[in-house]
Amino acid sequence: MSRETVRHNVARVRERMAAAAGRAGRRVEDITLLGVSKTHPAEAIREAFAAGVRHFGENRVQEWEGKRGGTEDLAGYWHLIGHLQSNKAARAAKAFDAVDSVDDFALAQRLDRARAEISDERKLRVLIEVRVAAEETKSGVEKERLPELAEKLLTLERLDLAGLMCIPPFLENAEKVRPYFAELREMKEQLEGRLGRTFPVVSMGMSHDFEVAIEEGATEVRIGTALFGVRETP
Ligand SMILES: *Cc1c(COP(=O)(O)O)cnc(C)c1O
Repeated sequence: MSRETVRHNVARVRERMAAAAGRAGRRVEDITLLGVSKTHPAEAIREAFAAGVRHFGENRVQEWEGKRGGTEDLAGYWHLIGHLQSNKAARAAKAFDAVDSVDDFALAQRLDRARAEISDERKLRVLIEVRVAAEETKSGVEKERLPELAEKLLTLERLDLAGLMCIPPFLENAEKVRPYFAELREMKEQLEGRLGRTFPVVSMGMSHDFEVAIEEGATEVRIGTALFGVRETP
């Protein structure tokens, strides 16, 4: 995809984000656009960066390790958004600024330990991925176990638990996804009440449903196809 096209797509997505925020009486400045660059080359990341995108999401540690060299000069903020196997946790803690898909305490402990070994003084930002549709997805913590996991994560010194993330079922009609988005926001609010602290991030919404997610309170939307075009299946 050409530079011009990525630039155009970024502008178009930002307009749609602003319109959705407006409908919900929210400020678009409060919503982060995360470009999902998985399967796309470093050059695509550079194009989106030139168009103002600063947050990027990859779903495989190894793929990102291979691409990093081509983006090292960019002041980007790099998120792992895909399911993380515990044997890759140490590498993930070194290669990313944020892991948005934590769903298990043992995994979080590994991230915490690995973070201690690098010179980076900053905490690793993490989100808890919640399994909002138990019958359809495998990753994510069960809703019933969310409070317990959140409480334990707060004890890990090198992790900064910033909020929740979900991947609802893919439904052609984005309106049908709305209840899942509303539910994740409610879970976040309940968790805040229960633990007596605020969690600023609700990461939800992808290319086909991000407007509904924004109307329901998303603070981060993860957009791949609408920015970079259709991915080739490997
Ligand atoms: C691939 C992916 C996205 C982006 O999906 P698009 O439909 O291309 O916007 C968002 N979140 C996660 C977790 C993904 O794996």
